[in-house]
Amino acid sequence: EVQFSGSSKANVKVVVRVRPENKRELEHNAKCVVKVVDEHLLVFDPKEEEDDFFFQGVKQNVRDFNKKVHKEQKFMFEHIFDINSTNQDVYDGTTKELIDTVLDGYNCSVFAYGATGAGKTFTMLGKPDMPGITFLTVMALYERIEEIKEEKSIEVGVSYLEVYNEGVRDLLNPNGKPLNVQENGLKVLVPGLSLHKPSNAEELMKMLAFGNQNRTQHPTDANADSSRSHAVFQVFVKQKERTANVSANYALAKLSMIDLAGSERGSATGFRGARFREGANINKSLLALGNCINALADGMRHIPYRDSKLTRLLKDSLGGNCRSVMIAAVTRAHTSFEDIFNTLRYAERAKTI
Ligand code: ADP
Ligand code: MG
Repeated sequence: EVQFSGSSKANVKVVVRVRPENKRELEHNAKCVVKVVDEHLLVFDPKEEEDDFFFQGVKQNVRDFNKKVHKEQKFMFEHIFDINSTNQDVYDGTTKELIDTVLDGYNCSVFAYGATGAGKTFTMLGKPDMPGITFLTVMALYERIEEIKEEKSIEVGVSYLEVYNEGVRDLLNPNGKPLNVQENGLKVLVPGLSLHKPSNAEELMKMLAFGNQNRTQHPTDANADSSRSHAVFQVFVKQKERTANVSANYALAKLSMIDLAGSERGSATGFRGARFREGANINKSLLALGNCINALADGMRHIPYRDSKLTRLLKDSLGGNCRSVMIAAVTRAHTSFEDIFNTLRYAERAKTI
């Protein structure tokens, strides 16, 4: 168990990304329940004029999807990315500033949180014509290293693993043995995890696509492309001043970028047997992450990192001196009312770390 002494100032940035309606939502005539007021403010379940229409002079309320009064709840975040935002916009507003932080020697973590289909993988990995923020961040880091290579000797390596069913697998060595998470003091190690050095944009892109393709995915009753795994992409930076003594230590820092499993409730998916266990374990890692976030937010001395594989893995990258970014992904269609609300509340909680 790690004990943090003293208090650290807010070191988490929480943003929300709203994706446009998909075909299915449009076919269901989905109503918009997320009104983005500006870059910092959104209203969940607003009372909209369009909800009301007049029929023969009498005002009718057409809202009936759950017959509750509008929540009209305001949420404020450091940034809200509306449906027209690009991955470049999200990169500019989130992980761009982590590049110097990592090069200054601090561990950083970036989480994409949200229900299945909310846009996590689109944000982290992206599409060939719109690379995600993982790609954009690593490319920018390479450029920055190129700029300072006269002063510093820097080595970079990347790894990509999956936490699935409380087991750890190397996504870049898919036929390898299951891996273990070990702790050495405050450091977290995954012995046997392959380390790679993609030397150009194309290699990096191929590596990300290859790793993503190796993620464990199972069709479930609720959603055919439901992803039940947490994908963790890590960049390790080892550096030393060129003027430093040969015996001087290298400074080590890492940036972890995590595409979390869907946050929707397992109960909604009707699992049985193996799928049920799977669901329970997903909840375990996500629940543990939530508990760590809560403990950090409350300034507790004991942070329950040991409660799941995911939090053990991220123990040295969450809280303390680390910088974190939480990207909460949501749709804005009323058909995902509960998921959107739960995601916004989770993100709200993370703000207070
Ligand atoms: P998740 O990883 O959260 O389950 P995805 O990222 O796979 O969800 O997104 C689900 C679908 O929605 C994908 O087809 C994806 O291309 C699309 N999508 C997600 N976010 C956006 C966006 N901001 N703009 C356009 N399409 C998006
Ligand atoms: Mg996904």
